[in-house]
Amino acid sequence: MTNRRDFIKNMSLITAGGVLAGVTGTSCSGGTATATAAAPKGNKVLGLQIYSLQQELYNDLPKRMAELKEMGYVKLELSGYSAGKVGDVDMMEFKKMAEDAGLKLVSSHVSPSIEGQQMFAPFSYDDVPKLKEDWKFKTEEHQKLGCKFMIIPMFLPIMSMKTSDEVKQMSDYFNQLAEINKQAGITFAYHNHNWEFNRVTTPGEQAGRNPFAPSGQQIQDLMIEYTDPALVSFELDVYWTVRGGNDPLEYLKKHANRIKALHIKDTAVLGQSGLLNFENIFNQMYANGIEDFFVELESVQALNITQFEGVKGCADFLQNASFVK
Ligand code: MG
Repeated sequence: MTNRRDFIKNMSLITAGGVLAGVTGTSCSGGTATATAAAPKGNKVLGLQIYSLQQELYNDLPKRMAELKEMGYVKLELSGYSAGKVGDVDMMEFKKMAEDAGLKLVSSHVSPSIEGQQMFAPFSYDDVPKLKEDWKFKTEEHQKLGCKFMIIPMFLPIMSMKTSDEVKQMSDYFNQLAEINKQAGITFAYHNHNWEFNRVTTPGEQAGRNPFAPSGQQIQDLMIEYTDPALVSFELDVYWTVRGGNDPLEYLKKHANRIKALHIKDTAVLGQSGLLNFENIFNQMYANGIEDFFVELESVQALNITQFEGVKGCADFLQNASFVK
């Protein structure tokens, strides 16, 4: 186990100041202040997770989509799909509006569910047959949408997992869902937050020694090991990877054959925190042959800007970045 000082020293992609800023919560302008200073120079193909826009997207959908295209966003990743709709919009109308604006629906964040159950209802493996039926229906709908990826954005039982057996059981479940996607020619993937980097306990810890600081393998690593590489891929959220105590650069190298998409995310607008070295991340993304990345932005209400302005700031950062092809 490395201690925190060694971890920071060895973390090749992040400046020590950036990491400390992230850990302590102090603001840090980092080394990328020039990135948003000028008008966009490039005409690059960018991806966007539409969650970034929250309800602002739906104010005037065709106009908003045209504005996204103008910023350079061409690939969309959906959130808010449910039974025939994206948000409150008929999904095929949404698709047509996107295509009319020159946008492509590449990916979708979606979870299997049981009708009538709340999103955060307790999970039971007894429900897997029903969940597979639901997943089959959702897969057929995503075939109609033309999505390349269906990505599970979070699986809450992970937050309380303690043993590798639990990770194995979940991985088997993901393999079963992913088989349905494979039949349909869609790639199944899982998107991480920070808690996927929690560690499971070792047998000694399970016997009662040191129960408060598990030192076994990270759940994310075990999930990658236990799921079938022919079926299950991963979308790496680079921001949450850092928050989970891992260097995205090293993680991309370590699992080059399993990570098929990225969430390009910062504490707020890309490049402003200094927490992440996006140049290293993009270089490794290209080296790995990853074709799809999606910008993601949480609420920027505290910055006194709109989500659209934040998403534009992210686009400007990437359009001006020499390391983005
Ligand atoms: Mg994300």
